[in-house]
Formats: sequence, C-alpha cells, structure tokens
Amino acid sequence: MLFAGGLIESRLPILLRTAKLASSVPPPGGGGFRNSHRQMNDVSSAPSESLTEYFPEDLLHVVRENQPLRETLWLGIGGPARFLAEPVEIDQIEKLYTAAREKQLALRVLGKGSNVLVREAGFDGLVIKLSAPATSGLEIQGQKLVAGAGAKLTHAVIKTVGEGLGGLEHLVGIPGSIGAAVVGNVSAEGRDIGSVVESIEIIDEEGKRKTLTGDEAGFAHRQSTLMGTVVLSVAFNLEPKDVSALTKRMQKLWIHRGQRRPSESNRIAMPFIDPDSISACELINSTGLAGIREGDVSLDSAAPHYLIAHENATSDQCVKLIGRVREQVLMQTGIDLQLNLQIW
Ligand SMILES: Cc1cc2nc3c(=O)[nH]c(=O)nc-3n(C[C@H](O)[C@H](O)[C@H](O)COP(=O)(O)OP(=O)(O)OC[C@H]3O[C@@H](n4cnc5c(N)ncnc54)[C@H](O)[C@@H]3O)c2cc1C
Repeated sequence: MLFAGGLIESRLPILLRTAKLASSVPPPGGGGFRNSHRQMNDVSSAPSESLTEYFPEDLLHVVRENQPLRETLWLGIGGPARFLAEPVEIDQIEKLYTAAREKQLALRVLGKGSNVLVREAGFDGLVIKLSAPATSGLEIQGQKLVAGAGAKLTHAVIKTVGEGLGGLEHLVGIPGSIGAAVVGNVSAEGRDIGSVVESIEIIDEEGKRKTLTGDEAGFAHRQSTLMGTVVLSVAFNLEPKDVSALTKRMQKLWIHRGQRRPSESNRIAMPFIDPDSISACELINSTGLAGIREGDVSLDSAAPHYLIAHENATSDQCVKLIGRVREQVLMQTGIDLQLNLQIW
C-alpha cells in the first residue's frame, strides 16, 4: 500500500549522501564505470550476466543496464547510469534498495532531474527513477494532501488550490518532484515546504519503510536530514481557504516565476542556495558576475542565479563556472555560497 506506515521515533540516519558543496564535487570521471558487459541498445534476449549478478529474478524486468540519463536531466549533460530502475510498485523500491545494499552498489533516486548534474563518465551504480503511477499519486484526505514522491510539485499545488486548501500555492512553477522538494526543503516567497509537512514515508538505512513526523525530518533553510534516504510519500497538513483567492495568488506567482526564467534555453539549473540575508541573484549581480561564461556554460545576464548549458556544454565547464562564482563571491563579500545542484 502506497501511503501506509507507522510513526517511529528515531533520528534519521543518513545513508546515501550526494555532493552538497562545491568543495566536495567528485573528480571528473570519479563516478564513472567501464562498459564491460553490455552495449546500450543491445537487444539480445537474455538479461546480461551483470544484471543477474546484481539483481534477483523478480527485479530483472524493472532494471536496465547502461542507460542514458541526459535526456531526463534539465541540463542535458552526462553519461549513462550503470543500472537504471523504474519500479512500478513500492515493494520493488524496497527490494531494489536491499539488492543495492547487499551488492554495495551506489544508489541515487531520480525525481524530475532539474537539480542534478551527471558527469560524462556516467554514474557507476543504481539509479531509481520514480515516475510510475504507484509513486506519483495525489490524494486529498480532508485537510490533507498525501502525495507520492514522484508526483510533480506543481501538480500537487494545482490539486490543492482546486480543493480550496492553502499552504503550497506559493511553490507553483518550481520544477521537480515532491520527493526532491521535501529532501531539499524547497522554498519561495520566504516560506519553505517543510512548514506544511505532517509526515514522510521513507526507506531508511536498513532498507525498511518507516514514517517520520515533519519534526523528525530536520527541516532547516533549504535542507533536511532526509538526504540519503528514499522518500516514498509525503502528507501535507493544509488550511481551508477561498478557492478563487488561492487561484489568483497561484496564477500571479506562476506568471511572475515564468517571466524570471532565462528565455534563451530550457537547459537551465539553479545551482546555489539563497543565503539567509540576500538572494543568490542579488549577490551575484552585486559582484559583477552576471553573464559570465566558461566554455559553453554561462550565467544568465538578467537572472544570474540561473546557469545555462549551451550546445556542447560539459559537466567540467559547469563545475568550473560554479567554482569561479563561489570563489569570487567569497572574496568580494565573505559569503560562502552553498551548492543546491547535486553532482553525481
Ligand atoms: C528553473 C528552476 C527554478 C527553480 N526554482 C526554485 C525555487 O524557486 N526554489 C527552490 O527551492 N528550488 C528551485 N529550483 C531547484 C529545484 O527545482 C529543486 O531542487 C527541486 O526540488 C528538484 O526536484 P527534482 O525532482 O527535479 O529533483 P532531482 O533533480 O531529480 O533530484 C535532486 C536531488 O533530490 C534527490 N531525490 C529526488 N527524489 C528523491 C526521493 N524521492 N527520495 C530521496 N531523494 C530524492 C536526488 O537524489 C537528488 O539528490 C529551481 C530549479 C530550476 C531548474
């Protein structure tokens, strides 16, 4: 059952860390792997030896080997995943987690790919993509929304606004999934998503499902202690409000957010977390870095908190540009810009 789970009081162990700061950016090719088993698009009838070595029989139909990721990533950069799984049932996620753990395979969860940079060498491990209906449900229960981790954040906003439930409407238009939004505690208009989270169903360090309260998720400015777990679903506690007032507010913010995005390309990322006192946009503008370029990657000149990947952009160029910005901002202002973008 998708949304089941009892409350268990314990601090959340962090199992699967992804790069958080530019200083911990993995080296080029650091996450890479050799394609020693099977070429992409190989259509031989039996699963490869590598697949059967790593995954039990009842998972072979949800895992594929050596799969490209770039098409699913907003930046459109990077090599393949050694294994890519698209589970269609929650139980399969638990089993995948256990298999990866037993075989000591690195594991990452992929939502909508708007906040991930993959290196050209690819990701040497298992990527679990949450996109199937079983992981993307949206269910209203009285004043609550229960959302699957793979559901689009904006769909959750639209659903709740239509039901006259307030608390998520200011997040409309922020790209991505519910799972990633909660892990990264996304925020807009000075209010973060964690403030309306009632409970979160996760897979923990032992590969077991458990439910945490919002308080146990350690929400703080653009972070939580959920990074490294697999978020399965989230229950939001919302407030009944007038539908037309909510709709007006949502529409206004949606238009405003769309207008602020770079118009020249869809291959964009928002690499930095706004510091507490000032927005990353203002900070970068004040240091004269708007529009700077590194090879085929640049900061937008009007909204320089956006990074744009032009044709032929590479992950190295992204990492270099991010490093230059952090260094300059630190030198000129003393503020150490923290990285939002996850580098695999
Ligand atoms: C144009 C643009 C505008 C943006 N505006 C904002 C904004 O206003 N405010 C803001 O806060 N952010 C903003 N962002 C950042 C981005 O939208 C968020 O980080 C978003 O939550 C990413 O969602 P995703 O599903 O695409 O995550 P992905 O890129 O798929 O993954 C991001 C990270 O979350 C992890 N993850 C994903 N799903 C799960 C899960 N179910 N369980 C555990 N871990 C998981 C991944 O492993 C990865 O580490 C913006 C980004 C862009 C490109």
